[in-house]
Amino acid sequence: MISQYAQIVPKGDVLLIQRLAEELQGRSFLHINSTKAGGGVAEILQRMVPFLKELGIDARWEALEGDQRFFDITKKIHNTLQGHPEQFHQSMWEHHYEINRKNAARLPLDADAVLIHDPQPAALVEFRKEGKWIWRCHIDVSNPVKDVWDYLKRYCEKYDSAVFSVAKFVKSLGIDEFIIPPSIDPLSEKNMELPEEEIHATLNKFHIPADRPMLLQISRFDRFKDPTGVIKAYRIVKKYNDCTLVLAGSPATDDPEGETVLREVKEYAAEDPAIFILLLPPFSDRDVNALQRAATVVLQKSTKEGFGLTVSEAMWKGRPVIGGAVGGIPLQIVHGVNGFLVHSVEGAAFRIRQFLNNPDMAQRMGERAKEYVRNNFLITRQIRDYLSIWYAMESKGKNIFEL
Ligand code: UDP
Repeated sequence: MISQYAQIVPKGDVLLIQRLAEELQGRSFLHINSTKAGGGVAEILQRMVPFLKELGIDARWEALEGDQRFFDITKKIHNTLQGHPEQFHQSMWEHHYEINRKNAARLPLDADAVLIHDPQPAALVEFRKEGKWIWRCHIDVSNPVKDVWDYLKRYCEKYDSAVFSVAKFVKSLGIDEFIIPPSIDPLSEKNMELPEEEIHATLNKFHIPADRPMLLQISRFDRFKDPTGVIKAYRIVKKYNDCTLVLAGSPATDDPEGETVLREVKEYAAEDPAIFILLLPPFSDRDVNALQRAATVVLQKSTKEGFGLTVSEAMWKGRPVIGGAVGGIPLQIVHGVNGFLVHSVEGAAFRIRQFLNNPDMAQRMGERAKEYVRNNFLITRQIRDYLSIWYAMESKGKNIFEL
C-alpha cells in the first residue's frame, strides 16, 4: 500500500512513517469518534485506520452510540464551541456524561494509544485504562462560549496530550499540545483520478448542464458552512456571468440540524432552475469527486471551520477555490497564490467573477493549489505526525541520548 503512495507524496514522509512504524510494531492504537458516516472525521478515519493496520499497527476505530437527545446536546456543544450562543444547562452535561459512561462499559478501551476525536466522546477519559490518551479537537475553538469550554476543559485536562488543527486554536490545558492539520487521501475514491466520461455521466445523472460554468460547494447542511451566503454570492455573479450553482451535501448521523438547514436552503433557492441542491446518500465519494472535478470554481464559504477537507479535496483536483477567511482555511489557501480568501458575500462574488473571467489565472492557481496540498495536506503527513507524537509521548522522560 505504502509503495503506491511513494509515487505521489513527499518522500521524507514515507521514510519517517516506515521508521516510526518499525518502532511501534504490533502496538494498539484506538480511535473513537461519534459517527462512522458523514463529516470530515469519519472521512479521515475510514482511510487512516486500514493504512495504520497495513503498517503493522493494531489500529481500531469505534464510534459512540447515543440517543437523539445526546446528539442534540453535542450539536449544541459544537455550536457553542464555535462561538454561537445556545441555551445550556447542567442536566445536558449530565446526559453527555451518562452516554459516555454507557459507551465506556460497552467499548474495549484497552490500547497503547487512544485518540478521542472531538467533544462528543471527551468524557470517556473518566474511564481511561492503561495507555496514552490524546484528545483531538477538529473544530474551530478560536472563540468559544466560555462556560461551555470551561466545562469541557475539565475532561481535556485529564488527557496526556491534545491535538489541534491550527496554532490559533491551542488552549492552555496544562498538558502537551500539538498542532496537526487534517489531511486527504489521494488514492481514495473521493480523490483519485477519474475518467472524463465518468465526470460527464455524473453531471448527466444530476441533470446539471455542462454548457455553462459551474460553481460548487460540497458540505453538510450546516449554518456555519453558510449555504445561503453562497446563494447570495451566486445571485450577484449571475447578473454578469451565466453559470450554475451546485450545493451538495449528505447527512451525518451526529448532526441533527441537517434537515432543517436543508429546508431553509431550498426555500432560499426559490426554485431557481440553475441552482442544484443535491442531497447525496452517505459514501457518495465518486459523485463528490466527479462534481469537484467538473466545477469551474469551488467555494467553501464557511463562517467557522476547524479545517475544510473539502477545500483540500478541490485544491488537490487543481480547482480554483474560494474559502471563508476563518478557522483552518487560511492555513490551506494562500490568498492570491493558490486561491482566494473572502470575508463577505460581496467578496465571494467578486472573486468568483475574477476566476470566471480569467481562466488562465484560475488554472495557474489551481496548479499551485495541487502542489500545496501535495506538500502539506496528504494522509501520509498526518500519519507521520500522529506516529511521531505517540512515539514522543512514549519516550517522554527518557534520556534522549539513549533512545
Ligand atoms: N462530504 C461528502 N458528501 C457530502 C458532503 C461532504 O462526502 O455530501 C465529505 C467531504 O467531501 C469531506 C467531508 O465530508 O471529505 C467534510 O469534511 P469538512 O472538513 O469539509 O467538513 P466537516 O463536515 O467535517 O465540518
